[in-house]
Amino acid sequence: MICPGFIDIHNHLPQHAFAGIGEKELLPWLKKYVFPREKMFKNKEVAKESAKRFFEDLIENGTTTTLTYTTIHPSATDIAFECANKSKIRAILGKVMMDQNSPSFLTEKTQESLRSLLELIDKWHGFDGRLFYALTPRFAITCSMELMKEIGEIARLKDVYVQTHLSENQEEIKFIRALFPKCKNYTDVYNQAGLLGPKTIMTHAIHLNDEEIRLLKTSKTKIAHCPTSNRFLTSGIMSFRKYNKKGLEMGLGTDVAGGYSLSMFNEMKEAIESSKCLYYFSEGKSGSPMTPSEAFYLATLGGAKALSMEHEIGSLEKGKKADFLIIDPQKIDPMKSHSIYTKPEQILSKLIYRGDRTCIKHVYSGGKKVK
Ligand SMILES: [Zn+2]
Repeated sequence: MICPGFIDIHNHLPQHAFAGIGEKELLPWLKKYVFPREKMFKNKEVAKESAKRFFEDLIENGTTTTLTYTTIHPSATDIAFECANKSKIRAILGKVMMDQNSPSFLTEKTQESLRSLLELIDKWHGFDGRLFYALTPRFAITCSMELMKEIGEIARLKDVYVQTHLSENQEEIKFIRALFPKCKNYTDVYNQAGLLGPKTIMTHAIHLNDEEIRLLKTSKTKIAHCPTSNRFLTSGIMSFRKYNKKGLEMGLGTDVAGGYSLSMFNEMKEAIESSKCLYYFSEGKSGSPMTPSEAFYLATLGGAKALSMEHEIGSLEKGKKADFLIIDPQKIDPMKSHSIYTKPEQILSKLIYRGDRTCIKHVYSGGKKVK
């Protein structure tokens, strides 16, 4: 079987090391696991080894395009780009920015934070037509309005991506209300900072009201749906059907290590199963659950659209870059030679539910074999 390479539109390179270790909620988890680990990326050897393993794992899992957070360290981000370049896959990376409410060892001065990234943008954005830069304010709790407004200016000036987190956890939302009393809601914080737009990817976006949905829709801002992480950190279940009906554009993100695996097979399964939970507990009011073909779309062409790359990747069509996977059908269906379940939707369902890294025999990126 041949399938388009997967597109993971949200994950964190430095967190790969502790994938699988959760905590009940987001904010204590950040303090206990994320910040101490990200501090280690000041050390270039740690940064190098971690980036190398991260890209190897992405490829093993059939991911040929990734949108990824690094840490606040410019040197570690530069190293991550070097490793992405060597890996031959497509990558959009960004140095995390945070100038408030962060541990002292991860707090930057606002101007210093801005200076260091211009060099990275000039060096890497558009490199080999395969590597791109994403401005990466971690989330509004750790970023001053001054910093976010400057980021918005740079995004327009340099035509780069923007990625950040939005409305993931109830405690987080309470904190945002207290921090930005002049903003109407969480999405409005980013709106007032000038960060919404077609090249902006907002991650999670679970607890949005109608006004926030409208803001995202009119600004053509994209959503990274991270169902595994949303359950793993007890954040909630995003209403896929509601956003889908409102016409929001979405892709899937593993959010390692809020999510425990870089497997997009796993992410597709979780996306469908969590939408079934929502359907059950809302007694059908949430609208019909996600179908396997919708999950597959989000992991491929939907992700490509979210990254404005749908003319190049996301499906197998003449003229596109050849990013694809060769899958061993025997691994998915041991009874294949006798199978009577041969309709496309049956084969797709089996692929999603029974697929994992072991069924991916070869991975091609831009026509070059990378696994
Ligand atoms: Zn994240």
